[in-house]
Amino acid sequence: MRGQLIAHRDDETLYSMMARLTRYLAISETGALHRSLFGKDMPVLDGMATNLMPIVGSGVFGEIEVADVALEWTTLPYHVRYAHPARREAVMDVMRRGGAAASSSLGVAAHYLEEGALKFCPACIEEMSELHADPWWRRSHQLPAVQVCPDHGDPLRLSTVTSAMRRSGYHAATLQTCPPSSETIEVGSAEPARQRDLLQIARLADRLLDAREELHPDDVRECYLSRLQTAGLLNRLGEADVGKIAAAMDRYWGDTLGSWQQLHEDGRCSQGWLGKLLLGEHRSPALHHLILEGLLDAFDGR
Ligand SMILES: [Zn+2]
Repeated sequence: MRGQLIAHRDDETLYSMMARLTRYLAISETGALHRSLFGKDMPVLDGMATNLMPIVGSGVFGEIEVADVALEWTTLPYHVRYAHPARREAVMDVMRRGGAAASSSLGVAAHYLEEGALKFCPACIEEMSELHADPWWRRSHQLPAVQVCPDHGDPLRLSTVTSAMRRSGYHAATLQTCPPSSETIEVGSAEPARQRDLLQIARLADRLLDAREELHPDDVRECYLSRLQTAGLLNRLGEADVGKIAAAMDRYWGDTLGSWQQLHEDGRCSQGWLGKLLLGEHRSPALHHLILEGLLDAFDGR
């Protein structure tokens, strides 16, 4: 076991720490870096990273538990927040020991887990630069549902680190990878209403990263039904009235739903994802829950 080589920064991803190590140690070949630090090569540590046992055992990151690395430095808490406990445990097991992609144990459609180019917020980069000589990648910015910075409300920008690049190696957040001229994420209209909606979703998503009490999906659904009843959105049988809920979604979120795939069709909230969320097996991605919770919060006057 070697001594600690790097310290975690606020909201930093494990990928970002590895990218900083790549720079500090000047080992640009990923396999050589992994062998040097952990004694073996392994997949790039990104998203819901795997092989956490040898990583933690190496001592490179100081004294920390495997579970804490998963909860504090990866996107795991967001993705498993609404998952069945058995699925959550299966994902955690892959993250501990390696194996197939952790995300495939989750049972959520792949496009909700896919990670595109790394994202950044110029205002955050500026604040980071006041604290340290080099900036870092923030975990909350990399969540698939997040399109604006939860702290500054500005549209996130796409760095030059594409999904193919992040899958094959570590690239630190620098002026070169996060240039001021980079494009913002396509957020559709720049209307204040849409910006406000995207900020609400970004903040709800960010909150999931810090949520630690375990939920059972049956209890979550029970809670939704009770809140839908208060909002007058159940049918006479006491079930979720998907048609009425879709209409309420249109009134509350409007075109913002078009910011994400498959939630909006022909200018209206589509009902398929709502049916699965409220009546189907518990396999809906976190984003669907957040959109429903945003609507229910509005009914509750929160
Ligand atoms: Zn920011």
